[in-house]
Amino acid sequence: MTTLFLHDERTLWHGGGQYAGLFPVGDLVQPLVGGLPENPETKRRLVNLMRVTGLMDELAERSAPPLTHEDLLRVHPASYLDAFKAKSDDGGGELGMRTPFLPGGYEIAALSAGLVADGLTAVLRGEAGNAYALSRPPGHHCLPDWPNGFCLMANVALAVERARAHGLCHRVAIVDWDVHHGNGTEAIYLSDPDTLAVSLHQENNYPVDTGGFDVRGEGKGEGANLNLPLPPGTGHAGYLAAWDRLVRPALDRFRPDVLVIACGFDAAVVDPLGRMLATAETFDALTRRAMGAAADLCGGRLLLAHEGGYSEAYVPFCGYAAIAALAGSGTAAPDPFAAVFAQRQPGPEMARFVESRIDAMAAALP
Ligand SMILES: [Zn+2]
Repeated sequence: MTTLFLHDERTLWHGGGQYAGLFPVGDLVQPLVGGLPENPETKRRLVNLMRVTGLMDELAERSAPPLTHEDLLRVHPASYLDAFKAKSDDGGGELGMRTPFLPGGYEIAALSAGLVADGLTAVLRGEAGNAYALSRPPGHHCLPDWPNGFCLMANVALAVERARAHGLCHRVAIVDWDVHHGNGTEAIYLSDPDTLAVSLHQENNYPVDTGGFDVRGEGKGEGANLNLPLPPGTGHAGYLAAWDRLVRPALDRFRPDVLVIACGFDAAVVDPLGRMLATAETFDALTRRAMGAAADLCGGRLLLAHEGGYSEAYVPFCGYAAIAALAGSGTAAPDPFAAVFAQRQPGPEMARFVESRIDAMAAALP
């Protein structure tokens, strides 16, 4: 069955306006202009790379309707949605932390969430073998009433809650391999025993005060939250070991109805917001592992939802690797950096350290 690829040019029109980094120097402030690191270029280049190589021709490609107010209320309180909509209509602005938006920002965020929700619905109804939603703005940092880290609506949670409301699924596993902690997803599902939230991330990155291994869920959700903080420089082999020894066993124990990946590419070796040394080959291998888990546990039902990834040069090749794997495609956009990035992988001493950290986490799990 075909792979569904959901995207919409209008999501690339979301913007941060005159956003600038501000650095005090004595009595003055030095601005770093150039807009948000989360810019449309990474996504637009990915789509174009898929088109010129022919990969797009092998996929079912379309947009989707934005989520309705009723759909959004399943995760976000009316007070937040009203404030967001009012500011969006009034010229744009900022409501949380590092989440500026322009006029129309509310509608674009609802459209981004709609792409993810439509992909999940199609997978659950058997209309697609699997799906990739090129969502923008991303979602995994967004709490119900507090947007942060470029995320304005909780895309994956909104998709899951709509699918549940329609009786399409019950037990959902979300694996977040964005380099940053999925703090929004964790907050939404911390006490939910029917949603397994796994986050693989660089320790002490963003947010610096969340994502600890000891946070395992609350109340009835105890055991259904799994944070896997990894040291900077973990690299390709470390990511695959973390999947094989920590993520896959957690999925086997949980037995989901569907697997959703919060798919960031900012663990890549040249990402400006991460220090993890993953490569396009890593995302190919992780996607194949996700497909294997979905095939064994939930009839192959798998959705990848785009999150972070900030290298304009490299995200397109990482995204291509993941989507080509998802589609079982024979087309190729060979990673032009592969030989150099292979040489930058951790040496034996660092590899042993990463392994020891994974050993310690594995020993502490049931
Ligand atoms: Zn990220």
